[in-house]
Amino acid sequence: MKSGLPDFNGTLYQMLLAAARDAVGLAYCPYSNFPVGAALLTYDGRIYKGANFETVTFTQTKHAEEVALLAAFSDEVFVRAQRAGVDRLHTFEALAVFVPKKLGLMPCGNCCATLAEVFRDQFIIAITGPGNADFEVVRFNALAPYLMHREDVLESARPES
Ligand SMILES: [Zn+2]
Repeated sequence: MKSGLPDFNGTLYQMLLAAARDAVGLAYCPYSNFPVGAALLTYDGRIYKGANFETVTFTQTKHAEEVALLAAFSDEVFVRAQRAGVDRLHTFEALAVFVPKKLGLMPCGNCCATLAEVFRDQFIIAITGPGNADFEVVRFNALAPYLMHREDVLESARPES
């Protein structure tokens, strides 16, 4: 859709929400028993799933959103996007998150900091219930408006003239 909001009830977004629900089944969370599923929608309509992967060290635990991003990265999503003339900040359209034990939960601060490398005004969708229409949408910039971005660092790292 070129103007306005995408059709969140349309087939593509319903597939994205279904993928986030489905991803929960992939979660490896023996310590928290708090499964999280995530799904990323790319510019070209592909969907990548992720689930949390915990380790006994806890600090090495990977969140569902990170796993989905790394799945897309490993599948060369940025290579394809670059070839298609799509820049890094427009490679993804949306991220859906499903936390069955805490419906409506949005990505945590750590995940937002990771997503900020490739997200700006993408849609973040939290599933809030069992139905297809049970979800909440927020723009990434509204969810995490004060994050440090790549541009901030690169700009200040330039030599002064
Ligand atoms: Zn997180």
